[in-house]
Amino acid sequence: MKARLDHVAIAVSDVERALAFYRDALGLDVLPAVDVAAEGVRVRFVPGTPTAIELLEPLDPATPVGRFVAAHGPGLHHLTLRVEDLDVAVARLQACGARLAGGIRVGAEGARVAFVHPASAHGVLVELREDGASRPSAPPALEVQAIDWGGFRLVSLHDGLIRLDGGAMFGVVPRVLWERRMVPDERNRVCLAMRPLLIESARGRLLVDCGVGDALDARQEGIYGLDRSRHLDHALAAAGVTPEAIDRVLLTHLHFDHVGGATTLRDGRRVPRFPAAEYFVRKGEWEDAVHPHARNRASYLVDTLRPLEQSGVVRLFEQDGEVEPGVRVHTTGGHTRHHQVVYIESEGRTAVFAGDLVPTVAHVDEPWIMAYDLHPVQTLRAKTRLLQEAIDREYLIFFEHDPVVSAGYIRERDGRRYVEQVL
Ligand SMILES: [Zn+2]
Repeated sequence: MKARLDHVAIAVSDVERALAFYRDALGLDVLPAVDVAAEGVRVRFVPGTPTAIELLEPLDPATPVGRFVAAHGPGLHHLTLRVEDLDVAVARLQACGARLAGGIRVGAEGARVAFVHPASAHGVLVELREDGASRPSAPPALEVQAIDWGGFRLVSLHDGLIRLDGGAMFGVVPRVLWERRMVPDERNRVCLAMRPLLIESARGRLLVDCGVGDALDARQEGIYGLDRSRHLDHALAAAGVTPEAIDRVLLTHLHFDHVGGATTLRDGRRVPRFPAAEYFVRKGEWEDAVHPHARNRASYLVDTLRPLEQSGVVRLFEQDGEVEPGVRVHTTGGHTRHHQVVYIESEGRTAVFAGDLVPTVAHVDEPWIMAYDLHPVQTLRAKTRLLQEAIDREYLIFFEHDPVVSAGYIRERDGRRYVEQVL
C-alpha cells in the first residue's frame, strides 16, 4: 500500500467568511459550495496540484465537524490520503492495530472513504480515499496567453465555454473512467472551452478557427449550456487586436463550434465577422458542410456559411501544404472526412493546433475518441501518429476544447501519458 496526500481539510465556523482569506487575499480558485448531507458539512474545495485544501463548515452543531469546532475552534480537521485499494489499506491498518472512526463509507463525489481515529494517527484525523474516484476538476481557465515561437507569436484566444454530452465526448470509454478526468454536470455534460489560435508574424495575422460566435439560437444555447459571458471579442481586445486586423482565417473543419464565429449578425444580416479577411477552407469539407446528412446535420449550420460564400471571401483548397511560410495543414480525416490540423514550424520548433483530433488533455490516450467522429478508426490512425511524433520530437500541442490547458507538451512515463502544461 502506497498512499499519497490528496488534500488537507480545515474546519471553519463560516465558510463564506473564510473565502476572504483563501480566495480574496491568497488569490486561490475556489469551487462552488457543496453540501455533504451524510457528514453534515458544507464544503468548499480549493483545487491544487497535487494537493487541495477543503474548507468545511458544519451544517449543524451536532455533526462531527460541529462538535470539533465547538471543542477546538476552527482549525486543521483532517488529512486525506489517496490509496489504490481501500479494502487492502483498511485491512492492513487494522492488522497493525490502528483504530478506525466508523467503517468504509461513501463520501463526497461518490468516493469510497474511511477515517482513522486521531488516537492511532498521532493526534490528526486521517481520511483514506480510494484512488480513481472522481475529484473536483479545476475551474475553467479562459486567459489570453501568448508564446513566442521562432518567427511567430502564438496567441491562445477563447470564445467562452460550451457543454457537450460526456458520453459523446469520450465515445466507447465508459463513464466510470471518463468521469475521473472530467466531472459531468447533472445533465451529463462536460464543460469545454473553445480556443481559436491567433498566429502573428511579419506576414500578418492568421486566425485558426473562430469559436461559435452568435450562431446558436436560444434553444441551442440551452442544450449546449453556452457561456459566452466572456467571448472572442473580449479575448481579441485583451490581445490588442481588432477584428479588422485579421488578415486570414483558416478553419480546421466547419462544425458550428469552430466556424460559427466566422460570421456575425449585423443589422439583421449575417456578414463576415472579420471584414478584411480571406477564409481558407478545405474544398471537401465545404461540400460536406453544405450537403449534410442525418448523422452530421446537427453539427453544420449551413445558414452561417452561405454569407461567407456570398461575400466572395472563401478560398477553397484541396492539398496538404503551406498556407504561408512556416504554417502548413495536414488532413487527418476521422472527425470529419476532411478535418485538418495545423503545424506551425519555426527555427527548429514545431507547434500543432490539433483541432478535434485531440480536443482536450483527457484525450491523449489513443482510444479516447469522440463519438461525434464520423470515421473513428481514421481518427485513431492519425492520432496515434501525431501523438508519437509529439512525444518523440517535443511538439507543443494546442488543445482547442480543453477547459483548463491551452497548450502543453505530451510526456510519457512508465507507460502513462500526461500533459505538461505550458499555457
Ligand atoms: Zn469541436
